[in-house]
Amino acid sequence: MAEVVLKDVSKVYEGKNIAVKNVNLTVKDKEFLVLVGPSGCGKTTTLRMVAGLEEISSGEIYVDGKLINELSPKSRDIAMVFQNYALYPHMTVYDNMAFGLKLRKYSKEEINKRVTNAAKILDLESCLKRKPKALSGGQRQRVAVGRAIVRHPKVFLFDEPLSNLDAKLRVQMRTELSKLHNRLEATILYVTHDQTEAMTMGDRIVVMKDGSVNQIDTPLNIYNFPVNLFVAGFIGSPPMNFINGKIIETENLKFVNDDKSFSVDLDSNRYTGIKNHIGKPVVLGIRPENIYNNPDDNLILKKHRIKLEVAEPMGNETILYFRFGNSQFIARVHAIEKPRPGEEVDIYFNLNKLHFFSLDDGKAIR
Ligand code: ATP
Repeated sequence: MAEVVLKDVSKVYEGKNIAVKNVNLTVKDKEFLVLVGPSGCGKTTTLRMVAGLEEISSGEIYVDGKLINELSPKSRDIAMVFQNYALYPHMTVYDNMAFGLKLRKYSKEEINKRVTNAAKILDLESCLKRKPKALSGGQRQRVAVGRAIVRHPKVFLFDEPLSNLDAKLRVQMRTELSKLHNRLEATILYVTHDQTEAMTMGDRIVVMKDGSVNQIDTPLNIYNFPVNLFVAGFIGSPPMNFINGKIIETENLKFVNDDKSFSVDLDSNRYTGIKNHIGKPVVLGIRPENIYNNPDDNLILKKHRIKLEVAEPMGNETILYFRFGNSQFIARVHAIEKPRPGEEVDIYFNLNKLHFFSLDDGKAIR
């Protein structure tokens, strides 16, 4: 069992800089929970408070029901893997992994058993005698993880562990860490600013902004039901299209953009909340992947002929940029042969995949 609970946790740095505001969250036993958000939103500070590296200004942190606020980092039974790996350059891989255990006065046999086992899990057996400078980025990253594993901690904390790796290695290590999580059945709190990492690795995701938690849910629920404009725009790549406009009532309910160059009829049984926003400013959201050039007949679609501003062929798909009046759209469509700016193409909006947000407070309208 290893459950971490944060209750109303805040951090105020000197000079009244509020880095973390009343954070409430639970990392369930064996869960991989990802904290994600833009730079400066308080992710690292939150993680460091759990590790005991940063004092908690107010609130409580519990591990398995035990209050740990006053415990020193080394008494917390929590291991942290840092962004820069923090390996000792003059020590071999073996000694780097053994160091923490030596400090805690484990026997030579026990240390050997744990380091050998971790090296096996992480495929580092052939590197144990090397120093960090003789390792690749991915191997160094694995040593840093190994140093955490050997301690058999209750909880693992990861602070952007993949950000120093090149794009290809990052994808590979993402899968490695997910496999490791399953194998160790570990409780993991993982920090990243990369929404793809969050979506692919997390059992659940915590989206943070300006020190506060905006939404906690599974990756798919966050993708399908973002609670506000920030979460909707942060999760998903390319990001969701946002079109400012209002809801008007004719024979149907309708969304019309600000300069009236774009409109869609709305099914008020599907989008029940919009009835309360008639005449008010709202933002319509639609993800680029819900605009097609090659529609499926079973979908409820609205067809438009548009003029391409830019088209980016990606091989398996094409990213299209176009606009209606002042409203800019991005669509992610089936690959188009040699698309040219200025060319006219038919595109289709999936009317079952619209999102609406109040312009006043940015909250989703449901
Ligand atoms: P990044 O992804 O850039 O690391 P983050 O989301 O992890 O960002 P934090 O490092 O937790 O953000 O920082 C949150 C806020 O607290 C920022 O405004 C930052 O400038 C501030 N901050 C962090 N450390 C300190 C410190 N030691 N003293 C004062 N302010 C700090």
